Formats: sequence, C-alpha cells, structure tokens
Amino acid sequence: MLRGRQDEIRAYTMANLAPTEEGEDEDGTSSNGIAYVIEENPTGGMRMIANKDFECGDLVLQELPLVLFPLPAKSDLRLSLRRALNAFDDAKRADYMGLANIYAADEVEPVLGIFVSNKFEVFSTDGAEAASADRTKPFAAVFKDISRMNHSCCPNVVRYWCTASRSMHVYAARSVQKGSQIVTAYCDPFLPLRERRALLLNTYKIACACPACTNSESAANRVRIRNIRDDSAAVIQWTLTPALPDDLLLVPSLEQLKLIEDEGLEGTEYYARVLRRLWLHIFRVGRLWSFRILWADVEGVEDRERDEEIGRDKGNALGAGADPRRCGSPPVVYAA
Ligand SMILES: [Zn+2]
Repeated sequence: MLRGRQDEIRAYTMANLAPTEEGEDEDGTSSNGIAYVIEENPTGGMRMIANKDFECGDLVLQELPLVLFPLPAKSDLRLSLRRALNAFDDAKRADYMGLANIYAADEVEPVLGIFVSNKFEVFSTDGAEAASADRTKPFAAVFKDISRMNHSCCPNVVRYWCTASRSMHVYAARSVQKGSQIVTAYCDPFLPLRERRALLLNTYKIACACPACTNSESAANRVRIRNIRDDSAAVIQWTLTPALPDDLLLVPSLEQLKLIEDEGLEGTEYYARVLRRLWLHIFRVGRLWSFRILWADVEGVEDRERDEEIGRDKGNALGAGADPRRCGSPPVVYAA
C-alpha cells in the first residue's frame, strides 16, 4: 500500500472513538451483523461508525429516504413537510424529528430546519430519466442513517443515488477499518480552501478540521490532481510508438496515484482515470496474452477462439526480442 498522509487521515477518522463492542466473527463482521453504528459524537451531534472492515468498493449501506422533494420546491416546502410527517407512523416521525437541527436556535420551523440540516442533493442516474434529466434541478433527500454521516474533505465513502430503487447507496472509497468514522463530502472537495470553509460554515455551521483543511500543502496538491487529464490520446500514441520509453506513462501515473491517496480522494473521477491508465499500461507492456483473456471474457468470445488468440499472443509477446507493444493484433483500446 502506498504510504504518506494516509496514516494521518486514518488517525483523524479514528480519533476520540469510543471502544466498539467485541464479538467479531471470523469474516471480520461484528457478531451482531450490523455494518455500522450510529452513536453520539464527543464534539457534538451524532456520527456513523464502521462496525466491520470495508474494502474499497464494498457497499456500506443502502437506504430509502425519509423524504424526497424536488429542488427548488414546487410548493411551500414547510406545508409539504408537514403533510409528509402527518402521513408517517410514530416511529418514522420520531426518526425524522430526532435528526440534527442546526437552525434550532433560529426562528425556523423545526421540520424545515431539520430538512435543511440533513438533506443531500440527488440526481437521476439511470436510464432514460438520466438522459433527459435537468441536472440544474436536483432532488433533496433526507435519510434516517445516511444523514448522520459527518463531513470530511477526505471522505472515505462515495454516495450513489439509484433512481430505479429510489435509494441511496454508500460505497467505501478506500479501506475503512472497523471503528473508523464513516465520513462523506458535503461539498466539492476540490473547491479552494477559503470557498470550502465559507460554504461549510454558512450552510452547515461546520468549521472543518480534516487533514485537507489543516495541511498547508493540500490546496496545491488538489490543484495538481484536478489538472490530471483523461488523456486516452496519449496512451494510444505511446502504444503506437515503440521508440517511446516503456515507463513514459507509468512513473507519472504512480505519482498521481500516490497524490490522490495522500489527499484521501479515492472516491473522485481522477482516481479512476489514473487507475485506468495503469491498467492499460500493465496489459500493454506486461503480459499481453493476459489482456486477451480478459478481453475475450468480456466480449464473450468462444473458448476455442480465445485459446487460439492467447496462443498467438503468448508466442509473440513472450518471444525473444519481441517488442510487447508491437505483438499480436493492432492495439485494442479497451477502456479508453
Ligand atoms: Zn475539511
């Protein structure tokens, strides 16, 4: 594993945590089978704590919202919220009214204060609805548990709204140890520090003290990450030009990977871009026939045909003096 500020970020999410219950099963999950717990936060409010270890990509939870409204509201939001709450049973109403209200001291009706304090904006992401969706008019959803996730500019999960099931999915963006706080980003973590601070303070009354907000190098690092381009053209040119060094793309890609991990931004598109480039690199420079196996599986090529392909590439790519980038068929850009 690449090291750097990962330890600092892990220490931040592990800080001041109360000991979790013992009773771990062999598979690493808690004996009560619950993936996370909601508990009081020593610094105020509540927080969500991992009750098992998660690997990058694991589903942490999936949850239906308590309320879901289009933004901007088509009618009086307060009236809509009151109607929604009247339709709830007692338990569901208690879940909603038990959520944080950062406007409790202001002259804001509690149902509205809770809504504004806990909402996440969601967009259509599936099928025809996504294709025609007007992304300037999102929905706002409030959740019993997901709304308990606190903010960090180094989030360890990503949120994904599934329009088909009308539910929010939360996935681990990197390894999350049991006992760590599960944190998400309330705003774009690439915003300049001053803008981020102002937005978090004005909207959520948060003075963020995450590693990104307290490290003087973070702002410059995030600008560098944001400059990472989706340069498929460079990959193709390198593939077609044997005179170019084998590690032309490898070294900068590994540096970028470390930078993203140091900043705790594995949940962003830039991580996927760099991983995809490394993936292409490994299959081009490394074992081309392995690339063929994967390609054949994905494309559903018959076994016999696949074996012939692999046999050819094995002979070519592994042959003495062969340039791996010039073996076999013309280069296939699989994931570009
Ligand atoms: Zn922060």
